[in-house]
Amino acid sequence: MPIPATQGDREAGRAYDRLIIAIDGPVGAGKSTAARLLAKRLGYRYIDSGAMYRALAWKALEAGLDLDDEGRARRLADAISIAFVPSGDRELVLVDGQDVSRQIRKPEVEQATSKLSAFASVRRVMVARQREMAAQGGIVMDGRDIGTVVFPDADVKFYLEARLEVRATRRYLEAQAAGTPRGLEELAEEIRARDARDMGRSASPLRKADDAMTIDTTDVNAVQVVEAMEEEIRRRLIASRRCT
Ligand code: C5P
Repeated sequence: MPIPATQGDREAGRAYDRLIIAIDGPVGAGKSTAARLLAKRLGYRYIDSGAMYRALAWKALEAGLDLDDEGRARRLADAISIAFVPSGDRELVLVDGQDVSRQIRKPEVEQATSKLSAFASVRRVMVARQREMAAQGGIVMDGRDIGTVVFPDADVKFYLEARLEVRATRRYLEAQAAGTPRGLEELAEEIRARDARDMGRSASPLRKADDAMTIDTTDVNAVQVVEAMEEEIRRRLIASRRCT
């Protein structure tokens, strides 16, 4: 059930259609599926921050950039345009007007993403863009540092996690459905390595924000996850009403 906004809330200027909701977690925890569904139910905009880092990595590979050159990576991050365009149930990712939605999911782009996203100066550019995109509120954004760095004051924060085997199986099924099958073992190893890099880097490592609600998605489906999220949003809103 969508979050109700009462007459009193409106009069008090509490615009429930303007919340910022942050979702973080490791690879394959179900962030984007839940975030997309939650945004749809709330009538919010969904922003996949990982796709922004992937878009940069795709462009860097296209441009033959030395992936160890932080200065050039930062300049490229500054220069490119990254846009999300709704398309059916999903959103297309455009880099300088070109649809790269498929290309950014390739393993070589994923590898490059991991490298470039570890640069603090690249992250500063991306974080500024992410904040700009959310300036009007009414946003569900997922990633690795959304509740800790991008929006430390987000209205509600979630941290999704799940057992590695389950996360690898999700990626395995996605790869099969996309017609680009991958081995389960190989995927599990990649996920483990990527999580270790994302959690171990010095610039904005993946970690749970202290005030985030953890949801273990191992044994639950996306609808159940979103229901738990809506419940938490409602709970926090009621608590904030009591405080004002
Ligand atoms: O979420 P997704 O798997 O598409 O993200 C790809 C990569 O982008 C992550 O493994 C991480 O290295 C980087 N990323 C990040 N910060 C974010 C989102 C993604 O560093 N907020």
